[in-house]
Parts: sequence; structure tokens; C-alpha cells
Amino acid sequence: MKLTPRQRKLFKTLSELNGVSGQENEIAAYLRAAYRDLGYPIVTDNLGSIFAYKKSNLANAPKVMVVGHMDEVGFIVLSLEKNGMLKGHPIGGLNNQTLTAQRVCLKTRSGEYLHGAIGAVPPHLLTEAEREKPTEIKNMLFDFGFRSREEAEKAGVYVGAMMVVEGPFQEINGGERILGKAFDDRYGIILGLEILIDFKDIDLPFDLYVGGSVQEEVGCRGAITSSYFINPDMAIVLDCSPSRDSSGDKKEFGQLGEGVLLRYIDGTMIARPELLAFQRLCAEKAHVKCQYFDSPGGTDAGQIHKNREGVLTLTHCLCARSIHTNSTILDVEDYNAAKKSLVYMLKHLDEKKIAELRGDVQ
Ligand SMILES: [Zn+2]
Repeated sequence: MKLTPRQRKLFKTLSELNGVSGQENEIAAYLRAAYRDLGYPIVTDNLGSIFAYKKSNLANAPKVMVVGHMDEVGFIVLSLEKNGMLKGHPIGGLNNQTLTAQRVCLKTRSGEYLHGAIGAVPPHLLTEAEREKPTEIKNMLFDFGFRSREEAEKAGVYVGAMMVVEGPFQEINGGERILGKAFDDRYGIILGLEILIDFKDIDLPFDLYVGGSVQEEVGCRGAITSSYFINPDMAIVLDCSPSRDSSGDKKEFGQLGEGVLLRYIDGTMIARPELLAFQRLCAEKAHVKCQYFDSPGGTDAGQIHKNREGVLTLTHCLCARSIHTNSTILDVEDYNAAKKSLVYMLKHLDEKKIAELRGDVQ
């Protein structure tokens, strides 16, 4: 299975946009224009999270929130050295083994992009012990070719400027898998957008909010503020989780190509069994695969389910290889499984179903 032309365009465009936590404005601007073109009203929180709003024809309808996060991991400039090199502050979880010698881009004060690389010491200048040990992020030098601090300043470099490891979008294995950066979590942004396109002319028995949160990678901060203002009765979090299938061990959770994740527990939320059973049923009814998954990490769901008096919250995630790098690999059939089962789920939700899943006593 390959991406449709629409999906290919969305994955290429949105994965190649840059937005580390706190600087998600390129993705937000893209979504704002896309939501507006589809005719949806737009609501935002004060941190930059953005949602399209699809009102039900039913009076006093319950509210359902579908959210992915717009931000990605990367760096901001920490200091401009005398010799023109830059030092970077990491944003989100980064593995320093994946970084040296990578191409990076930097967004200047005027919004232009500069291109450079994270410096690497050649092997013949390293001792045996140094070769064994990856460079610590605090010692990495970001080289944009500047000869001096003044030259860097003149080019628009400033402390706090965003730097992202470049990762062009590519289709691999005949288009059945895709390679690129920031599928965590442009997957969720793209799936949300596809839902808005496909449900445009379908009336739902609930008010639907679909959009993107900010600052997930640094502590799900936009999830706190956006769930507070939307105040949903149910939330579905779309995110991209690490696969654990590279060794070939079929018993490991998180196998590429085995479908949407039934994430029953992670570091910040325990899934409600009734809701997990409903997610599984929806995958079966939609004739797509699903797989159990656990994780020591967390998603926006960890915050959203604790909003106000508590919110019925489900994670509807995919797994991908090498997440938090510019070489993430995602399976197209998994994306399709997540999409089909989410469509089925949304078509079978109403006030009664939400109350039943929440365990309300009749
Ligand atoms: Zn994520």
C-alpha cells in the first residue's frame, strides 16, 4: 500500500516544515490556512495551539477533541562563539549518537533559513577512547561557515534561534514505507487534517475539535492549555511512538506494519479498559490491524485525561523506527489502519456511547 497523492503532498510538506517546541508557527500557519479553506471556524489557546471547530446540529452536544502535537525535537541557539561557531540547547529528547556530522538548518531573525552542519572530529584526530564515546550535546559545535561572531550576528543568528536536523521526505520500498523527519507528530497533524477533509459534509452528534497542540516534547504544555479551553467530554490523542521490532523479535511491542497501537499503559496514563476494547472493536470493524503497546514515555493524553474533573481519553498512535531523528521510518499501511479505525470510531460515537465508555451509571 502506498500513500495517496493527497497524503504524499501532506507528508512531504508538513514533515519538511520546521517547528521545535515553542516555535511551531510554520505548522500553525499551514493549519490555519487549511482549516480556513475547508470553511471551519478556528479556535486557539494563548500558547499557540490551534483547532478547527465542527459544530453539531444537535443542541448541547458533547465535545470530542482530536489532537496531535505540532512541535518536533531540535535545538535553539545557546551561544555564538568568538570564532563564528554556535552552541545549541537541546529541545526535547535527543540521542547524541544520531547528531554529529548531520546537516542542520537555522531560522534567522528575519525568518530565512541558513544551512550548516554539526561538527565532527575526524577519526585520525581522536584517541581510541574518544572514538568510543559520542560527543555530548553541550560540546557540539554548529558550523554555518561563519568566520566570526559578528558575521553570524549580521546573518541574523540570535540566541534562541531554532535549529533543526534536516530530513527530506522520501518514499522507500516502492512507497510502502516513508522516510523523513518529524513524523512524530506530523502523523497526528496530517491524520487530523484528513479527518476534517473527509467529514466536511457529514453531520456528527458531537461538536468536533481537531487540531495541533504546542510544546508536547517538553512536557505536553499545549495539551494542558488547549484541553482547558475546549473542555472536551472525550479526547483522542494521535501520536507517533517508538517501534521495537528492529531486532526481529516478534514478541516485542511496537511492530512496524502490525497496525494502530492499543496503548494500554505508559508513563503518564493508564487506558480505560472499556475504551481500549472499543478501539480494538473499531479496528476489527474497519478491517485493519491493531497491536498492544506499552511505553515508559507519555503523550498529550497524560495531561488531557487530568483536565478539570477528568476526561475520557484515548491514544490512537502509530509506531515508527528511529523517532526523534531525521531518519524516521513509518509504514503506510499502519497510517491507513489508524485512519480507517479512527473514521469508524468517530462515526460510532454519540452522547450515549461516550457516557457508556466513561462508565456513567444509568
Ligand atoms: Zn510525539
